[in-house]
Amino acid sequence: MATDSFLLPVSDVVEETAEAHSIVFDLPDDLKDAFQPKPGQFLTVAVPSDRDGLAARCYSLSSAPGDPLTVTVKRTADGYASNWICDNLRPGDTLRVLPPSGIFTPADIDADLLLFAGGSGVTPIISIARTALREGKGRIVVFYANRDERSVIFAEEWARLAAEHPDRLQVVHWLESVQGLPTPEQLKAFAADRLTYDAFVCGPAPFMKATVAALKELEFPRARRHQEKFASLGGNPFGEIAPVEEAEAEVVEAPEGVARQPVELEIELDGTTSTFDDWDPGTPMLEFLEAKGVKAPYSCREGECSACAFRLLEGEVKMVRNDVLEQEDLDDGIRLGCQSLPTTDTVRGTYS
Ligand SMILES: Cc1cc2nc3c(=O)[nH]c(=O)nc-3n(C[C@H](O)[C@H](O)[C@H](O)COP(=O)(O)OP(=O)(O)OC[C@H]3O[C@@H](n4cnc5c(N)ncnc54)[C@H](O)[C@@H]3O)c2cc1C
Repeated sequence: MATDSFLLPVSDVVEETAEAHSIVFDLPDDLKDAFQPKPGQFLTVAVPSDRDGLAARCYSLSSAPGDPLTVTVKRTADGYASNWICDNLRPGDTLRVLPPSGIFTPADIDADLLLFAGGSGVTPIISIARTALREGKGRIVVFYANRDERSVIFAEEWARLAAEHPDRLQVVHWLESVQGLPTPEQLKAFAADRLTYDAFVCGPAPFMKATVAALKELEFPRARRHQEKFASLGGNPFGEIAPVEEAEAEVVEAPEGVARQPVELEIELDGTTSTFDDWDPGTPMLEFLEAKGVKAPYSCREGECSACAFRLLEGEVKMVRNDVLEQEDLDDGIRLGCQSLPTTDTVRGTYS
């Protein structure tokens, strides 16, 4: 088991709708430092499996920082982990989890926020809204799409928050059963007067596609448009991490297009800058940093989530796999640490 996964006790299970359960964790005092979530981040959980030992899945926190740590899981038709969680987890059980990670989080909590959620995509969205209402000063508009009224997660909580903050929060519920699927034109109309806001989009793929298309057509600035894709991890980030010698011994030859000799790496994490001059070009940056004792963030280790994202400041890397970053992210210098092999003799980057 990786050293930084933790067994957390479940203190409560709340049936939010017929298909969605919130799992509330009881965070022991000695783990409070390791679990300091930002709004919109997710936990990676290890769901026990007779078949594979465990199935690793990410679940966004619906709670705001400071509240009891809570994820909200909606059953996926024919899915494994979501149904296991909803069918089996009870208060008093424990679940193995990795600490919070992810970059779907507001840079400025005082900004005006334009929040789009579809179905279970509401989970990080309500975390952001709860936090911004508590700590920020801006206006918050939420467009929340669901199949029908019974599918609406946190219906009462949204009504309560809107009643408590009538001057700051507006929630628009869009029901497919009544209005049909929202079209790009309708989404554009919703966003058109809010081009100065920071946008966050999370939901099923067609909903995200329509929303992002609408924002792009409005020329909504990429720097203020954030999206979170829900997908199941293929790999297992809970497995043993190879010790230093082993990790270095695994490297045989750097792949084509990658630097040919040890590379100089300067990386900033949580305000501390570390410098190394022996990054083997065949070793992904995350693995190299772990071997050096740097606690760099990660989750899937497969290029499928963005937990390990960092920003390049100098040099270049080649990503072996990237299922999550878009061209605009790449243009902004964002790279995935778990997939990055250096292509230049010097690389400088930051996780900030
Ligand atoms: C950043 C992020 C945040 C997310 N946040 C949320 C959230 O807040 N709420 C939410 O509901 N979802 C969230 N998701 C989606 C979530 O991680 C899962 O993708 C979703 O719950 C579907 O998983 P599933 O196992 O139920 O379904 P699937 O992944 O569709 O299940 C089928 C898969 O399970 C495998 N499988 C079948 N039987 C077994 C077995 N016995 N043992 C092991 N594997 C088996 C199959 O081979 C197949 O690969 C998030 C995803 C990401 C990336």
